[in-house]
Amino acid sequence: MTAYDELAQRFDAALMPNYGTPPAALVRGEGATVWDADGNQYLDFIGGIAVTSLGHAHPAIVEAVSKQVATIAHTSNLFLHEREIELAEKLKSLLGYEGKVFLVSSGTEANEAAFKLVWKHGKANGRNFLVSTENSFHGRTMGALALTGKASIREPFGPYGIDVRFVPYGDTDALKSAVTDECAGVFLEPTQGEAGVVPPPAGYLTASREICDATGTTLVLDEIQSGIGRTGTWFAHQHENVKPDVLTLAKGLGGGMPIGACIGVGPFGDAFAKGDHGSTFGGNPVSCAAALAVLDTIENEGLLAKVVERGDQLTSGIDAIDHPLKKGVRGRGLWRAIVLTDAKAPQVQAAAQQAGFLVNALQPDAVRLAPPFVVTPEQIQALLDALPGILDQAGE
Ligand SMILES: *Cc1c(COP(=O)(O)O)cnc(C)c1O
Repeated sequence: MTAYDELAQRFDAALMPNYGTPPAALVRGEGATVWDADGNQYLDFIGGIAVTSLGHAHPAIVEAVSKQVATIAHTSNLFLHEREIELAEKLKSLLGYEGKVFLVSSGTEANEAAFKLVWKHGKANGRNFLVSTENSFHGRTMGALALTGKASIREPFGPYGIDVRFVPYGDTDALKSAVTDECAGVFLEPTQGEAGVVPPPAGYLTASREICDATGTTLVLDEIQSGIGRTGTWFAHQHENVKPDVLTLAKGLGGGMPIGACIGVGPFGDAFAKGDHGSTFGGNPVSCAAALAVLDTIENEGLLAKVVERGDQLTSGIDAIDHPLKKGVRGRGLWRAIVLTDAKAPQVQAAAQQAGFLVNALQPDAVRLAPPFVVTPEQIQALLDALPGILDQAGE
């Protein structure tokens, strides 16, 4: 029995079956490399689902977290601490517009805050429904799940108390018909992540902004996966220069430490009154220290430019591969999906793991790549060299 087999048995006996049994037991990482419990080495092209942007065990995060945990690890929201202020100030300066920040510990919690903020504001103005998009993913708690367009994960847990209407993603006319002046808010991912890294047609975000402006509807951009450099800009909405009213962040923000943020732009920064919302762990000093290290490192090491460069290398390399199982590649920066001609993403993931690469079967026909920003050109080339063989094996 391998070390993995033994751990998988214990996992199955002790943990709920909602994730199935994960295919590897990771024990250690460094940069874009990870090792499993049996000593096998992999190049990590999924980075904990677009989270580990600086790679594993980055010295800046190790130092910031170690120092903070040895100083003060938790204050709760009964007391303020300087790290949360520094982080909120930093996020505001990266956005470049006025607003205020509410810190949380996960993506779904960021969207819960956005949901409450938008609903409170809308209700006060006589508004009575929300709009989201089909196939979208906004999280697993009941509010965020009510907004999630993937029916198979939403419907088993309904009904939900608030009217949420779903429109096809990328369809401006459908959005225009759905958003009336009784609509409180529109929730959008700038590119749909869990749906398969699906970008909208050019101009969609701009049109969404206009539709919301025309009806006085609040526009929420869920950048939990796309934000913090993943697409080569700090925030994906900066590609179209569209300003949201509310912005949510999480995954890449803490470089692996649990932290998220809900940012209210302009007047939305003051939409919560004292007592309206809270989170005991939200913005805890250790996670804030990690997030500050992430933001500083991205800035100081010019990682946004690297995301663009490596992303282009990855895409042009995949484009150059001629294989019957490969249909194409989509996405931006270091956030891509290899689209297959057949529903063989699980087989591609398994074959890649055997070949020493961690990738993610995101949809039956789409394989997600979201490597750390510190991935080297040589490491990308290694995946590109191995890909035809991986596709061969998956296609068998
Ligand atoms: C991952 C994700 C979420 C949920 O984040 P959790 O931290 O898993 O709760 C919400 N929205 C988007 C776009 C995501 O990718």
